[in-house]
Amino acid sequence: MSNRMPVLFIGHGSPMNAIADNPFRASWAALGARLPRPDAILCVSAHWLTRGTAVTAGHPLETIHDFYGFPPALYEERYPVPDARAFAQAAIDAIRSTRVAADTKWGLDHGAWAVLKPMYPAGDVPVFQLSIDATQPPRRHFEIGREIGVLRERGVMIVASGNIVHNLATMRPGAAPCDWALEFDAYVARALEKRDDEALVDYLRPGRAAELAVNSAEHYLPLLYAAGARDARDELEFFNAGIDMASISMRSVVFAPG
Ligand code: ZN
Repeated sequence: MSNRMPVLFIGHGSPMNAIADNPFRASWAALGARLPRPDAILCVSAHWLTRGTAVTAGHPLETIHDFYGFPPALYEERYPVPDARAFAQAAIDAIRSTRVAADTKWGLDHGAWAVLKPMYPAGDVPVFQLSIDATQPPRRHFEIGREIGVLRERGVMIVASGNIVHNLATMRPGAAPCDWALEFDAYVARALEKRDDEALVDYLRPGRAAELAVNSAEHYLPLLYAAGARDARDELEFFNAGIDMASISMRSVVFAPG
């Protein structure tokens, strides 16, 4: 029995999943109930892109409503969490390959709170975010993921939040999945099953399907942090596999000690 915390990649989809009574939100609640309780959560969200890498190092962290045109109820959501600054410092110390800035301006964006509030509704687990350095190539995100993997031994659950397939231009509620969305989602699922990290890092390999599925990289890149933080002892479990609204993959992953 290991005390190592799991690593998750969660397909977050629409911000409405934070409050909607639907299977996505229900799956996040179930996850929080059944996984070992972490001392803290490090979240890598698709919605915090920076130049250079940073962690949230403030307290309290503001709930950021970084979306437009949604119902007032979604803007009223708040997710105050306990002080995570000591854990953020541990992340700074764990990442040796680059200087990590201690950011006191960012809070929790919806890539973080929309999934973490359903998972831990009491708000009693410290949470901090690690940013995605948008200037870096895919391999660097994987490498930083590998560096933060050590935090799992110290009670830190790593939750990466994005979407494997994310194309807003082709999104249509209720429509059948695009063929290229299914193709790219299957490519990534296969790579995860085979532990083929090179195929994940070199994600444009499938050509047209990849270009359409990852038409902007920010929702895909969190997966590379999760894959990097995985180790040989982890077992893989998929949940929410499927394409929502024609071109959003909700496929999510748990890497946990077997
Ligand atoms: Zn998003």
